[in-house]
Amino acid sequence: MSAETTESAITFSDLALSEPLQAALKKVGYERPSPIQLQAIPHLLEGKDLLGVAQTGTGKTAAFALPLLSRLDLGKKNPQILVLAPTRELAIQVAEAFKVYARELKGFHVLPIYGGQEYGPQLRQLDRGAHVVVGTPGRVMDHIRRGSLTLDDLQALVLDEADEMLRMGFIDDVEWILQHTPDSRQTALFSATMPVPIRDITHKYLKDPIEVTIKQKTTTASTISQRYWQLGNHEKLDVLTRILECEDFDGVIIFVRTKNATLEVAEKLQARGFAAEALNGDIAQNQREKTITQLKKGVIDILIATDVAARGLDVERISHVINYDIPYDTESYVHRIGRTGRAGREGQAILFVTPREKRMLIAIERATKQKIEPYQFPSLEALNQRKIEQLFDKLNTERNKNLSEFITILEQYQQQYDIPAIEIAAAFASIAQGGKPFLVKEMPKTKPTETGKNREYSVTQRESRHREKGSDRFTRDNTPMVRYRLAVGEQHGVQKGDIVGAIANEGGIESRQMGKITILKDHSFIDLPEGMPKDVFKDLQKTKVRGCPLEIAVATTSKRDQPSSKRELPLKSFNKKDGHKKTHRKNDSPGKSSFTQNPDKPKAKRKPRPD
Ligand code: AMP
Repeated sequence: MSAETTESAITFSDLALSEPLQAALKKVGYERPSPIQLQAIPHLLEGKDLLGVAQTGTGKTAAFALPLLSRLDLGKKNPQILVLAPTRELAIQVAEAFKVYARELKGFHVLPIYGGQEYGPQLRQLDRGAHVVVGTPGRVMDHIRRGSLTLDDLQALVLDEADEMLRMGFIDDVEWILQHTPDSRQTALFSATMPVPIRDITHKYLKDPIEVTIKQKTTTASTISQRYWQLGNHEKLDVLTRILECEDFDGVIIFVRTKNATLEVAEKLQARGFAAEALNGDIAQNQREKTITQLKKGVIDILIATDVAARGLDVERISHVINYDIPYDTESYVHRIGRTGRAGREGQAILFVTPREKRMLIAIERATKQKIEPYQFPSLEALNQRKIEQLFDKLNTERNKNLSEFITILEQYQQQYDIPAIEIAAAFASIAQGGKPFLVKEMPKTKPTETGKNREYSVTQRESRHREKGSDRFTRDNTPMVRYRLAVGEQHGVQKGDIVGAIANEGGIESRQMGKITILKDHSFIDLPEGMPKDVFKDLQKTKVRGCPLEIAVATTSKRDQPSSKRELPLKSFNKKDGHKKTHRKNDSPGKSSFTQNPDKPKAKRKPRPD
């Protein structure tokens, strides 16, 4: 048996995870451990230190959460596991994953702590006790300093997305935290890349770490055209439906991660009129074979499968592979899309990518040596026209069948109720449609390029025309920048990383959206995308770096060091992303163009724009 087959046959029950965790995994519907889980779990269970080179989407959270939870003592009040994460978004996500895996552990508590949140509730919850704390470095450090986070019982420390923490300037804080945890702790460090400072941390603070890396297989699949669509998890089903309506498909395999998802998606697609079936490892072998035969014969067109269930599947008519959930690694991606483009035919591969999985998309492009283009939806009109034509085709096919039985019954109905034939036909169309509207009202929209935590800047065309006079400052996606002054500088011991970290965590602005930073003696400047929402501005005003308030204020290009009250620059319009709704609030609707240092001041008191 080859190493690959042996590995792929390993299930979670072969790993020595505790009973309650095995039970939780059954409920979540995970079929098999992902490659990083296979490699990491046994070592972490043995208490070894670990260096995992893996990115989001590989299943790395479960790779550390499952073994560490397996060794948890629920009787202890102080935290036993501390996870450091670069952003509050990730901290919350990791804490939620812990909750899912620990659902069968009675009395289990996990607490996310991050900047920008009130201290009060965090202090109360820490006082009450938490088995696991997941936090951003700055806030964790604050709590250790205050004495509100006691690490005497700490067994394990996880550094998640270590390279991101480095990029955001948290590395000194991370080192400080490492130095304030017991030497006896077990340490696991996960990072997508291994820049030198991360290697250094590994050498300095990890004891004989086991290194696990996800292999990136490269290949080309020239007969397969690949496209992707970026979306949120909750949008997947609707986007999938649209894609299936837009594509000319023969057979389709939709890959999902869990057994539960195969059933859910199959059920939803059936309800929307597609001939779809689920295929997962829990389904009895003879039923699985039956489903595959049905797919081959065209009784069903769509199969929703996990990797395990679809292994080795060879059905010529597969025209499309849809990666509803992104695979764990590039090897598995290549394997999945290889189910189409069989026998020299053209194949289509469509990949759903959530914003956090964009790195995986790049890795896949590299591995397949092919650019993956964004999916192009047709216009609403074109799609509806297509749906009408398809309906006409269906009616024509149906009319060729022997309909005498229905004709007799409907003639009777028509006479009895004196109803025009067209109304009867429409009633039947509505029944066939499950009572739902037939024509599509809206097409999926391309996501704005940059997402920052719960907030998002985006620039309207009008704003772009209003670029700051004489400014050549723009973000990578061409958003104009505004220069801000910060009341912290060299004399406060501030470094660029501190500023990036503070603004990223407290303001929810991604580091890649930040422009030039200049640190002077007692103050600094930073370029940030224009149109900063008021609440972000307020958060940042309260933010402290190295104990000193940022006192963020808009700087002028000409007289940068004017007293702050005189500094004014336009606030352009912005769209704040909150779920899917664009919220234009009072004073910040498009067109409002003045912005003073304090956006809460009554509008009448604002001075006109200097230009
Ligand atoms: P992560 O890389 O930790 O962000 O995980 C990515 C996604 O994979 C999450 O939605 C997990 O719930 C899911 N996941 C992790 N491990 C497995 C597994 N063994 N089987 C199926 N899904 C998994």
